[in-house]
Amino acid sequence: MKLLGGHLERLRACFAGLPDPRRGRNRRYAMADVAMAALSVFFMQSPSFLAHQRALAEGRTRSNAHTLFGLARIPCDNHIRQLLDGVPTAHFDDEFHAIAADLDAHGALASMRRLDGRLLVALDGTEFFRSRSIHCPHCATRKRSDGATEHFHQMLAATLVAPGHARTLPLPPEFVAPRDGAAKQDCEREAAKRWLQRHGTRCAPLRPVYLGDDLYACQPVCRAMLDSGGASCSPPSRPATRPSASTSTASARPPAAPPPAPAPAGASTATGG
Ligand SMILES: [Zn+2]
Repeated sequence: MKLLGGHLERLRACFAGLPDPRRGRNRRYAMADVAMAALSVFFMQSPSFLAHQRALAEGRTRSNAHTLFGLARIPCDNHIRQLLDGVPTAHFDDEFHAIAADLDAHGALASMRRLDGRLLVALDGTEFFRSRSIHCPHCATRKRSDGATEHFHQMLAATLVAPGHARTLPLPPEFVAPRDGAAKQDCEREAAKRWLQRHGTRCAPLRPVYLGDDLYACQPVCRAMLDSGGASCSPPSRPATRPSASTSTASARPPAAPPPAPAPAGASTATGG
């Protein structure tokens, strides 16, 4: 609880520095409160903003919202979206790393260590928006079999996981989105390379083993994992034709124990050193 208080304080300070798009006098809520309100929805595991606001209104989560987040009431979800939509996601990168490092320094990640004291970082793409009619400049697109164009948003999620462990810890995400001047559409594999470039070195003290599906089982991604001080584990794409060819590890001592059980969606077991 003491650690959590420190982390929330740190986040509040980060949120206070968010760019404020408002002009004029309509500043009823400070940016720190707006972002804290958004965080509280996820922290309290509410199914939606609306459900969270209702629970607050009915007093069911009021004490937690007030005590933990310093919120007497939360802005409406539209207001939160309008104010936070334009904030660059990189603004939060440091907080992910700082919280992971602090948890590690306090021994909170010790029970998640596997494979000779390493931490497992699952990389996997996830789609969080899809529509045939609504789209924005940041949408990726694909043709469906009926000829229609589908617009979608996707991100690469990086998550500390451990088999048999009920908790996970998110690391900064990398968004799959059209890049300026790029001829080809962005993709999950390119996002993984960017993620490793931006965050690999910072994660090196965690002694990461990167887990991924066969999408990551290619030389450039494995190279990037090794270069950033990590090791990588991917399953063979098709066991009958490519047995363990995609597995590589930077560890001088390959894991002697059986490989970890599948952890999160998309993360896969190692197939040996
Ligand atoms: Zn879009």
